[in-house]
Amino acid sequence: MERKSHMADTEKLLIIGSGPAGWTAAIYGARANLSPVVYVGVPKQNPAPILPGGQLMLTTEVENYPGFPEGVSGPEMMGLFQKQAERFGTRVVGQDITACDFSKRPFTLTASDGSTVQAHAVIIATGATADWLGLENELRLAQMGGGVSACAVCDGALPMFRDQPLAVVGGGDSAMEEASYLTKFASKVYVIHRRDELRASKAMQQRIFDAPNAEVLWNKIPIDVLGDEKCEGVRLKDTQTGEESTLEVKGLFMAIGHTPATQFLDGSGIDLTDKGYINLGDRTSNTNIEGVFAAGDVADADYRQAISAAGMGCQAALDAERWLAAQGIE
Ligand code: NAP
Repeated sequence: MERKSHMADTEKLLIIGSGPAGWTAAIYGARANLSPVVYVGVPKQNPAPILPGGQLMLTTEVENYPGFPEGVSGPEMMGLFQKQAERFGTRVVGQDITACDFSKRPFTLTASDGSTVQAHAVIIATGATADWLGLENELRLAQMGGGVSACAVCDGALPMFRDQPLAVVGGGDSAMEEASYLTKFASKVYVIHRRDELRASKAMQQRIFDAPNAEVLWNKIPIDVLGDEKCEGVRLKDTQTGEESTLEVKGLFMAIGHTPATQFLDGSGIDLTDKGYINLGDRTSNTNIEGVFAAGDVADADYRQAISAAGMGCQAALDAERWLAAQGIE
């Protein structure tokens, strides 16, 4: 493949990723005259769709982002973020970054079309994707807003789930947190866990054991989601006996973990946690390589909210601006 460069000169600030963190970094970077370029990524399937704009592109209604009192759809919100970033001169490239050479300055990054681009500072904001079981009906209903979701905190308060029986899949802290959150709205919350022991911390487990309308279904895995347009139930299989059963629920929430989008950093020298998230050792957005910053879910296994990702994007742009100024690059 012929190798070319998208940009003639070295970029001052290159941002990888186009979710709330990436666009917020771009807004701040553009307003600081850093003329940022955002590599927004290309659509892919794994097994749920992964789209430029990130996780919010799969979110029907965002009700917890301040400034939208009536709520806003995830895709509309990301469109507004992009428009705001472009208004201040942000440039957008519809490619993934597939490899990074951070060993020499300026840095050299390779895009999915084989082109290379050089940059003085890089902000990584590639996010994390929720893990799904991979069941056909699970993904179909999730994509059509049919009551299957990977974020109870985002979707659980929607009217369709009020006073209904709901289920959460998983046995970790996320599953306990999501289930506990849902107990406030649901008539009943089932936690479907594949073993006879939870992985979650004892305190988080206790919240579920203490909730009068929560129940853990031990040694169960979902094998199908029932319902044409809306979730009507879930088919379960007992992991010990193989016995199958049907659980009638109007909503199914996956909490079986997240995978941060850091595979393209293999061999780049960026320090990752044991779960693959970018390691931010201090309270800044600094990675272990000077001039490379990270923001949003790719560096945050805990909060994973649009508003916290946007806040981290702001921090990363300010850190990058200060670092570039200290290098005499303005
Ligand atoms: P996690 O700890 O990796 O737990 C994932 C859960 O999903 C496990 O119980 C696992 O079962 C189950 N699971 C995985 N794949 C499955 C499959 N294919 N089918 C059925 N079940 C499956 O992930 P997490 O709960 O998202 O937590 C991630 C990190 O964030 C953790 O470090 C956690 O402590 C932290 N966190 C903290 C808080 C908090 O303190 N407030 C809240 C949320 C998350 P097994 O147990 O059998 O492996």
